[in-house]
Amino acid sequence: MFENGSRQTVAVTNGIATDPAFGAVTPPVYLSSTFAFEGFQQARRYDYTRTANPSRDLLADTLAKLEGGAGAVVVSSGMAAIDLLLAQLNRTDLVVAPHDCYAGTYRLLNARHERQQFDVLFVDQTDEKSLSVALERRPALVLVETPSNPLMRVTDVRALAAHARVAGAKLAVDNTFLSPALQMPLTLGADFVIHSTTKYLNGHSDVVGGAVIAANQTDVANLANWANVTGVAGAPFDAYLTLRGLRTLFPRIEAQQRTAAALARRLRQHPRVRAVYYPGLESHPGHAIAKAQQTGFGAMLSFDLVGDVGDVRRFVDALKLFTLAESLGGVESLIAHPATMTHSCLSPEVRRIAGISDTLLRLSVGLEAEDDLWADLSQGFRGLAEIDDQS
Ligand code: PLP
Repeated sequence: MFENGSRQTVAVTNGIATDPAFGAVTPPVYLSSTFAFEGFQQARRYDYTRTANPSRDLLADTLAKLEGGAGAVVVSSGMAAIDLLLAQLNRTDLVVAPHDCYAGTYRLLNARHERQQFDVLFVDQTDEKSLSVALERRPALVLVETPSNPLMRVTDVRALAAHARVAGAKLAVDNTFLSPALQMPLTLGADFVIHSTTKYLNGHSDVVGGAVIAANQTDVANLANWANVTGVAGAPFDAYLTLRGLRTLFPRIEAQQRTAAALARRLRQHPRVRAVYYPGLESHPGHAIAKAQQTGFGAMLSFDLVGDVGDVRRFVDALKLFTLAESLGGVESLIAHPATMTHSCLSPEVRRIAGISDTLLRLSVGLEAEDDLWADLSQGFRGLAEIDDQS
């Protein structure tokens, strides 16, 4: 396992007190779209912000250090990060992706597939048999989301990396749900890490951004070149804000996961909860793998309510602290109903196959006090009980 302490220090200090102009402790934000040449044919290190920008580069450098990569490319959203990787594929290439991945990823893969830009195969990556059948087709890229959104399925990255290598495939892991504070896929053998920096890395729900971190320098250069060619690079101010959020990543996620684990245990005991999906519970099928490849279980969980969609509505309406909203990873707690929100673009059949029921609720646990959050959930359950009593 890796040492978290020094990376926490990197998150806090990278770029601090390096300003040559005035000694600013906080690295300045360079909003300029363009940079003056020193003279004819004498470009400086930076010439145009689409190509490169000091504020964006500092965020990329910090992310690369935290993930243990050769470099990173910072783009305008998590979807842009995934698309940057997909844009490297050829018409005859195959992508193997999880059958229960984030619905936006599913939609993007299908959209590009329909345009015949590559072939795609969705499989349950926790099922060894279907995975090995998929790898026999020698994919160019295997995409992994672990833990997956919203069911928190855990994929063994080390084992998959070894199999992917034999099959000649590159392995990309979407590390959005854990962040490098809790999981470092490149150290487990992945070639790429993808982030929606919108989530834990920024952590304050006020920026949409993404990044790809690559294990080797050639891949970094190719991706950076392509980000410049297509113009998907992230904005400097977004990079500045994301780096500001990143400074507190380690203590934030540590506190959030402590509360999430406590809520998962309390939810499991509640009679109106059919199942809790949280890898930190020993009963979770991915618990042992999560323990081996993560340094924490994260602050995301989902659970199935006993009842129907009407009960889901009553439960959610009764909440005051958990805000009904998409996204995750901020300091404030959110609740989402995947079937009608994050995963509504999937057909009911695709959701059924992925195991996403109409009574599934997903929690992004924030930094509020545990007892206050539990009181809020209890308020939701009381709403259901009262209705039941009247019927
Ligand atoms: N990957 C995962 C696991 C996500 O949950 C999301 C968004 O929720 C994305 C990628 C896409 O990120 P963005 O919304 O920043 O484009």
